[in-house]
Amino acid sequence: MREETIFALASAAGRAGVAVFRVSGPGAARAFVDLTRRALPPARRAVRVRLCSPATGEVLDDGLGLWFPAPKSFTGEDVAELHLHGGRAVEAAVTDALRGLEGLRLAEPGEFTRRAFENGKFELTAAEGLADLVNAETEAQRRQARRQLEGELGAIYEGWRARLIEALAHYEAVIDFTDEELPADLSQRVKHKMLGLEEEISQHLDDNRRGERLRDGIYIAIIGAPNVGKSSLLNALARRDAAIVAETAGTTRDVVEVHLDLGGFPVIVADTAGLREAADGVEREGIRRAEARAAEADIRLALFDITLWPELDAKTLGLVGDDTVPILNKADLLGPGQGPGAKERVGGRPVVIASAKTGAGMAELLKCVESMVSHRIDLAGSPALTRARHRDALEQSVDALTRFAGASEEALAAEDLRLAARALGRITGRVEVDDILDVIFRDFCIGK
Ligand code: GDP
Repeated sequence: MREETIFALASAAGRAGVAVFRVSGPGAARAFVDLTRRALPPARRAVRVRLCSPATGEVLDDGLGLWFPAPKSFTGEDVAELHLHGGRAVEAAVTDALRGLEGLRLAEPGEFTRRAFENGKFELTAAEGLADLVNAETEAQRRQARRQLEGELGAIYEGWRARLIEALAHYEAVIDFTDEELPADLSQRVKHKMLGLEEEISQHLDDNRRGERLRDGIYIAIIGAPNVGKSSLLNALARRDAAIVAETAGTTRDVVEVHLDLGGFPVIVADTAGLREAADGVEREGIRRAEARAAEADIRLALFDITLWPELDAKTLGLVGDDTVPILNKADLLGPGQGPGAKERVGGRPVVIASAKTGAGMAELLKCVESMVSHRIDLAGSPALTRARHRDALEQSVDALTRFAGASEEALAAEDLRLAARALGRITGRVEVDDILDVIFRDFCIGK
C-alpha cells in the first residue's frame, strides 16, 4: 500500500447539479470522518453528509457520502466519494479543506486510473479504452471504446501471449530434454502452431487501420479547380461559415477542417486550395498542401462545375479513384433539362449532382459518404487495434515470429519466441511498461 492519499474533483468543473470528489489511498477513511464529522458508513452505501471545514467547523455544503473499502473500489485502494453541489465556490472550499488534511494531495492527471491499473483492476488496453470513452464524441467511437474498456482487445492479446508462452515452454523442453522423453514431433508442432499465430496477428494488423481511423476520425478531402465551390460545399456540410467563400479564384490558401458526426462516425472534412497552376508562392504552398492532404485522405470529394459539362477539369479528373465521390456542383445554374443525367458516371464512379448554394443533393452526398465510411469501419467484426502503440508492439511480435520460423539454432529460436511474447505483454501492461506509463496516463484528465 502506498503512503500518499490523493484527491480530485472527478466530475467536470463549474456550475452543475452535482460535483463528485474522489479521495483514494490510506488516508481516505480519515478524510471522510474529519470532513463529515460522522463515523464511516457501511461499505458502498450512500449516506447524507454535511461537510464541515476541519479548521473552523463551518458547514461548507451538504450532499451524499460513499465509502468503498479496499480492494473493492475503482483504484483498488480505500476510496471515499463525496457528492456535493456543483459550483466554483463549493469546489474551491472543499479542495482547500481536503488539501488541509495531513497526507492528502491533489491527484495528477490519470492518477486514479494509473493506481487502478497498478493494483490489477484492469489491463493497459482497458485503461486506454477508458480514456477513449471519456474522449468519445460519436456513437461509433463510444462503442469501440466500451469494447476496449470491457477488455475485448486485451483478451485477444493476452490469448496470443498465452499461446506464445506455452510454445516457449514446449520449445525449451525440446532443448533441455532428450528425444526419448518427448513426443517425436514436438518441435515441428510448435513451429506449425506459431506459423498459425503469425498469420492471425498479421491479419489483425492488416485491418486498414479501421480502429485507429475511428479513434482519430476519418479524413475526407474536398478537391477541385478554383471556384468550383469547395469552400461553399464545406460550409454547406458544416452548416456554418467555416471556410471563407470568395468570388476571386484561389482564396483558400491553406487547409481548413471541419469535424462532423456522420451517422455516428467522426469525420474530418478538409477544404483544400484549388488545384491549378499557382500564381504566387503562397498559393503554390497551399496547393502543395492540398495535394498532400488529398493523397493521405481516406475519402476524396472531387468537385466539378456542372455548367462546364461535359468539359471537366482534367487535373481533378486524374485524381478520381475508388475512394472518390465525384460531385457536379452549381446545379442551380442549369435550366430544366440541361446538363448530365443523375445516372451519369465520372471516372467510373457514380456522380452526385448538387448545389452547395441551395443545399440540393447534400442529403444524397452525406448518405453516399456515410456508406463509404461505414464500409471502411466495420464495427461488427472482431475488435480493431486502436493505437499506434499497439501496432508497433504487434509488428515487433510478428517480426520475432518470422525470425523464429527461419532460425537455424534452437536456442536462438527460443529467444525469438520470448521476444514475441514480451512485445505482446507490453500492450496489456504485463511486462516492462514503466517507461510508457507516464505517456499513457498523461492523456487522462485530473480526477480520472
Ligand atoms: P472554391 O474556390 O472551390 O472554394 O469555391 P468557393 O466555394 O469559394 O465558390 C466560388 C464561387 O462559386 C462563389 O461565388 C460561390 O458563391 C459560388 N458557388 C459555390 N457553389 C455554388 C452553387 O452551388 N451554385 C452557385 N450558383 N454558385 C456557387
